[in-house]
Parts: sequence; structure tokens; C-alpha cells
Amino acid sequence: MLDVATPRVKPKDPIPDLVESLLVELGEDPDRQGLKDTPDRVSRAMRELTDGYGVKPSDVIAGAVFDQDYDEMVVVKDINFYSLCEHHMLPFFGQCHVGYLPKGKVVGLSKIPRLVEVFSHRLQIQEQLTREIAEALEAALAPRGVGVVVEARHLCMEMRGVETPGGRMITSCMLGTFRRDPRTRAEFLDLVKRN
Ligand SMILES: [Zn+2]
Repeated sequence: MLDVATPRVKPKDPIPDLVESLLVELGEDPDRQGLKDTPDRVSRAMRELTDGYGVKPSDVIAGAVFDQDYDEMVVVKDINFYSLCEHHMLPFFGQCHVGYLPKGKVVGLSKIPRLVEVFSHRLQIQEQLTREIAEALEAALAPRGVGVVVEARHLCMEMRGVETPGGRMITSCMLGTFRRDPRTRAEFLDLVKRN
């Protein structure tokens, strides 16, 4: 008797079939040439845009936290991000500004944009995105305080005419001294506003 290895069939990605049904439901012909590869492409795009689910924020920062006696404010501003709103799965995008006041620990600067990316690559609402970034930094560094400001355009509102095109929504989350001390908060907001 031949010992034939059973071929390992990869479980089929269910998203393309769902997209095909959606196309039909919208009145399209999924067999026409322009749409032939669309279900596969949509699947790949959606998986990429939501790949933040598989990543633990603490793993992003781990290995890049350093002991340091620096006690001035650290600010990383104008971090571009793209996310999908959890209400319509349509894009909202803009800039994120992050500041913290270290207490013996700092994080490698490239890790902050990466953290923003991990949280924005999930279905989100802007208020929650803002808070999650602040709380992840607070948990990782135990700093004196953290401030996060997010400015974003929401296509679900603009494209549906709910909001004027180009209008931006601004959210902030202030923790620790950024919340308690108006001077610290003002210093951060001033640095964010400066060009
Ligand atoms: Zn929406």
C-alpha cells in the first residue's frame, strides 16, 4: 500500500464569497471583467487594514523601553494614520500627536507611530483610538503624564453629506499631569499647534 501524504488544503478564505454576494446585492455583475478579481482584492485589503487585531500593543513597545533620567516632555506630532470607522467600515484618517512626561523610562521614538498604526488598523471610533493610544503608553512607561490629540476627516460623514467636506474632528485624551496640571497641558497643546 502506498503511503500517500494527504495534501494539506488551506482553509478557504470566506471573505471573497461574501464580497461577491455583496456585489450582486448592490446590483453588480461580479463576472464582468473589471470585477473578476475584486473579491480577492477586497479581502486582501480588508485584512491588511485590520491587521492590528493580531498585535499586542505591549509587544510593540517591549524591547524599546529604556531607563533614562530625562524629565522633559517628549512629543511626536503629525503621525499620519488611516483607520476604518466601526459604524460604516469607511475610512477616517488624519494626524495623531502624542506627548508624555517621562518618569525614568522612555520609549524608542519609532514605536509611537507603530502603536498608532496597531490601534488604527482595527475598526475604531476616534474617541476610543485616542484613549487606547494614551492608555497603552501609560501602561508601558508609567510616565508622569500622557497627552494624545487626534485630528481626522471621516469619509462616512463627508461622503454621505452629514458633514462639510474637509471638516475635521478633534479628540484628546489627557492622563496624569497632562490632566491635572493646566501648564503641562498648555505646553503640550502649544507644541502640537506650532508649525
Ligand atoms: Zn462612520
